Amino acid sequence: MTVENQPVEKKDVQTAVISSCAATTCRYNTNQQCTAGTVMLVMKNELPACGTFAPRG
Ligand code: SF4
Repeated sequence: MTVENQPVEKKDVQTAVISSCAATTCRYNTNQQCTAGTVMLVMKNELPACGTFAPRG
């Protein structure tokens, strides 16, 4: 069987629209407003967290 013939696993992805965010070290944060449009939510230490967070370069 080739890789192309294997079924693709669909993952359950949750997205949300964020208007205000306190994570000012994130490159998507401008004046505590999220400019990412939509973000992916993940669980970290059993708490929801932003999976789109990216530190400022
Ligand atoms: S991507 Fe996540 S951490 Fe970054 S500003 Fe938006 S909501 Fe905040």
